[in-house]
Amino acid sequence: MPHFIDTTKCASCTVKACEETCFRGIYKVDTRNGQHICRIVRDVSWCLRCHKCTTACPHHALQVIDEVTMKENATK
Ligand code: SF4
Ligand code: SF4
Repeated sequence: MPHFIDTTKCASCTVKACEETCFRGIYKVDTRNGQHICRIVRDVSWCLRCHKCTTACPHHALQVIDEVTMKENATK
């Protein structure tokens, strides 16, 4: 179940919605030179695919793609 983070979008972010929203502790937001960078810090097998993080991120920087969707896209 791949997680994708477009960290270029995190650079202009002023919140840590990903870290605060994910109740499974998947994300951690570091701040370097005043800019945020979201990282995955936990085995993503803990992810429940609830999509609370993708909805909460104000910059649409997160994607959580499940294996079923990946297989469907591969056969198109
Ligand atoms: S993933 Fe979204 S909420 Fe988290 S730091 Fe990046 S832009 Fe901000
Ligand atoms: S989909 Fe849910 S459990 Fe998975 S990383 Fe996002 S908020 Fe956390």
